[in-house]
Amino acid sequence: MIRKTATKVGRALSDALFPMTCCACGRLIQPEEKTVKTDMDELAGASPENAFRQVMHKYMCTSCIPGYTPVEPPYCTRCGEPFKSRSDKDHLCGDCITRKKHFSFARACAVYDGPVLKMIQAYKYSGKTVLAKPLGTMLYLEFLRHFRPKSIDAALAVPLHEKRIHRRGYNQTILMIRHWPAIAGKNSGLPKAKITIETNALVRSKNTAAQTGLDRRQRIKNMKNAFEVKSPERVAGKKLLLVDDVYTTGSTVEECARVLDKAGAAEVYVLTLARAV
Ligand SMILES: [Zn+2]
Ligand SMILES: [Zn+2]
Repeated sequence: MIRKTATKVGRALSDALFPMTCCACGRLIQPEEKTVKTDMDELAGASPENAFRQVMHKYMCTSCIPGYTPVEPPYCTRCGEPFKSRSDKDHLCGDCITRKKHFSFARACAVYDGPVLKMIQAYKYSGKTVLAKPLGTMLYLEFLRHFRPKSIDAALAVPLHEKRIHRRGYNQTILMIRHWPAIAGKNSGLPKAKITIETNALVRSKNTAAQTGLDRRQRIKNMKNAFEVKSPERVAGKKLLLVDDVYTTGSTVEECARVLDKAGAAEVYVLTLARAV
């Protein structure tokens, strides 16, 4: 009881001293916007927009939250690119017909624009690591939309080069997915599974230039041989879920999938927080 009261007082004090600002526009978040309850069972049953509002209400203002656009079908069955015509059925896009992909399919939570773009940039470049858990929850909910947890052997993040980790202080994707085992094992009606997070098997051996501003061909060239499987025994024969923050042209995840495939992975699936369209 005393501890509970102390936690409440502590939280009220920290809210007063460090008011939350919107991770997309910087506006102060009013206290009444912090009252929505979150419950994993409810979240899994909610629409993607509602789940986002529930998960992000402490971190994003009510003007920015409606800017969240989930990626919805029809999309490319392989790379997940959403098609403009809403009446079409899912099918392969032109790029996936002409260019071989080493992953089985890629899916994403939301379109990479507006407040989502600003939020991810704040998370990656402005040290907003407080977003790791809510964004990890959004990724996990998207994972449940496409997979049964037991259908993968391990999840792994697209690795950063050690120099970049040194500069940034963290791999933004590892921070998000490291909450998964706790979420998956939570006492809720959600499918329970012991999700393994593989952090050492795949490494980034080449410190590549930033991909921003490069076209597709330059991106593919930039990524060539950027990754290496350090422990082939940890990927051989396994069904792997490769996670990244943004899918732009897919050249980063494709290069990771290529080396994982070469090392004997049974399947590589891709999941990202956002997708450029
Ligand atoms: Zn805002
Ligand atoms: Zn495609």
